[in-house]
Amino acid sequence: MAEDESKGQKLAKELLMKPKNVGEAGPELLQKASEFCEGYKAFLCNKTEREVVDYSIPILKEHGYTEFEMGRKYGPGEKLYYNNRGKALIMMTVGKRSVADGFRLAVAHTDSPRLDFKPNPLYEDTEMAYFKTHYYGGIKKYQWTTIPLSLHGVIKKVDGTTVKVNIGEEEGDPLFCITDLLPHLARNQMEKPAAKVIEGEQLNILMGCWPFADEKVSEKVKLNIMSMLNEKYGIVESDFLSAELCAVPAYKPQDYGLDRSMIGAYGQDDSVSAYAAFAAELDAKDPDFTTITVFTDKEETGSDGNTGMQSLFLKDFIEDFVSAYGLSARHVLMKSVCLSADVNAAVDPAFGEAFERNNCSYLNRGPVVSKYTGSGGKYSTNDASAETMGFIRTILEKAEVPWQVGELGRVDNGGGGTIAAYISTHNLDTVDIGVPVLSMHAPLEITSKADVYLLYKAILAFYMSPMAKE
Ligand code: MN
Ligand code: MN
Repeated sequence: MAEDESKGQKLAKELLMKPKNVGEAGPELLQKASEFCEGYKAFLCNKTEREVVDYSIPILKEHGYTEFEMGRKYGPGEKLYYNNRGKALIMMTVGKRSVADGFRLAVAHTDSPRLDFKPNPLYEDTEMAYFKTHYYGGIKKYQWTTIPLSLHGVIKKVDGTTVKVNIGEEEGDPLFCITDLLPHLARNQMEKPAAKVIEGEQLNILMGCWPFADEKVSEKVKLNIMSMLNEKYGIVESDFLSAELCAVPAYKPQDYGLDRSMIGAYGQDDSVSAYAAFAAELDAKDPDFTTITVFTDKEETGSDGNTGMQSLFLKDFIEDFVSAYGLSARHVLMKSVCLSADVNAAVDPAFGEAFERNNCSYLNRGPVVSKYTGSGGKYSTNDASAETMGFIRTILEKAEVPWQVGELGRVDNGGGGTIAAYISTHNLDTVDIGVPVLSMHAPLEITSKADVYLLYKAILAFYMSPMAKE
């Protein structure tokens, strides 16, 4: 009741920020978010960048996207895509305004921390066969033992054919694991620092223990495993030399919490942003500005390589696209705005000392816009300008999408970067946006369904906003 409001209460309402849980408005949002997240769970079943590209292209085609044709001038409303080596993907919807007015981009990475196979992975020890791995990205190695793992990837054979591998995801498939020491004998292990409890060379995947029945051969278990792989895929041991294989958690993406308010899955960093951007891209109908949605690879290892964001593939594609209009990429890019879509760390009360509570993000407060990431004295960060923050803020407020700001934890506690710094190098305005995640980079990551849905709403609002940058 307004008449009961004190002067101070009134002033506080006018002047101060009051962070709010998006669930306070009622259960409708969770219902909508749950429906949206059914599509997200299906997307999460694609656990490598290659699987994401393979999954997305048929959906793009169903939605009227065609493969990019060099030199073609696309008209308003047309949708197209460009596939970079089956590992990175660019999707576009041409806007009503001239291409010269700039693009609206959202870029997300589709690689996640995992265990890559070494080039010569298969060996036998103590009459058991193993695959040797080399971990990919930032992991706590001890988290990867004694959990079910599945195998994914491709093998290129000398005859030129490519074999796709996927074992452990289908009902009835065998699973794999890395073993750990029993507590009874772990007195020395338990005294080690966490980084050394399990070391890189102990991340060996148990493949089998049944020997090939032949007195005359040695390493019978290894031979038996190789013979089974030969039967299934037609490969020999040397084919591992030209392969990209990895092990990832075999968990299925599922609802978590009694209230089913969360998603628990492997690879939500950064499939959550990739899916939200993908859904927004598909739903972008006749936008004013041309949209560009990008899936990129290699973010977890520094964005190097020709499918990572330090590569010029996006810039070169844009150059090719705008040249049909007699424009140059750099002139269009300087008028463009990019959302670097990546996750942030949600405040976790079990590790409260890692977070500065006024400036970190919380589950259920909507997507988190991060002005900067990096570490130490703001090293290695894009650090969005006040104008760029103002631009995205106005779009979100106008579209009534709840959102929050967030840094990655306390100053001097560590840190981490995103691809924003590599995008802004092309002289376009860039800002980070994503959802808060609990247990980021763990084999099982947790997000709030409402945040996932609101990230989609935020990216869609950004794509569809007619507001021009000053
Ligand atoms: Mn990420
Ligand atoms: Mn990451």
